[in-house]
Amino acid sequence: MTHMDIELARGDITTWTVDAIVNAANHTLLGGGGVDGAIHRAGGRAILQECRLLRADRYADGLPTGEAVATTAGKLPAHWVIHTVGPTWAKTKDKSGLLRACYRNSLAVADEISATTIAFPLISAGVYRWPKEDAIVQALTTLRDTPTSVSTATLVLYDEATHRLAEQVAARLD
Ligand code: ADP
Repeated sequence: MTHMDIELARGDITTWTVDAIVNAANHTLLGGGGVDGAIHRAGGRAILQECRLLRADRYADGLPTGEAVATTAGKLPAHWVIHTVGPTWAKTKDKSGLLRACYRNSLAVADEISATTIAFPLISAGVYRWPKEDAIVQALTTLRDTPTSVSTATLVLYDEATHRLAEQVAARLD
């Protein structure tokens, strides 16, 4: 097990050339809005077909929050898509353990499929309304603290403001 580099980048994760990109999916695994919709649109129907088989074989009730599972990546430049389901933000309930589980379990799946480069979106920080700054803290500290054979993890921020915020948070955590 070697040291994992953690990088920040701005852009569209569907264009990333890495072994695996992570999808902020929903329980159904059958597509949705945000990055999930973008991945299925860019990757084509092959991903959806594999997701349907996973539903039929292993996840009849859907993929539980915090868990992760891989499919191939269809027409995407990545080889794999690791689907994980983030928690929705709730003011009155601390679900950060589940958010951290998304990153940890995605790295565990990456190890199973021997993916050594992986790109993550900022899980839960879109439709699921997790405050961006805390989402970044949870992502970076979990990636830093999880033992893995992955060599490089890139956190891909979609817009410039979030990318700048991530640079600030990373500097603070250093
Ligand atoms: P969730 O349902 O987990 O909140 P979303 O897809 O709505 O997932 O949002 C998660 C994060 O992904 C948000 O910060 C959003 O801005 C970002 N995002 C949306 N599309 C893309 C994309 N194509 N590449 C990278 N990040 C994206």
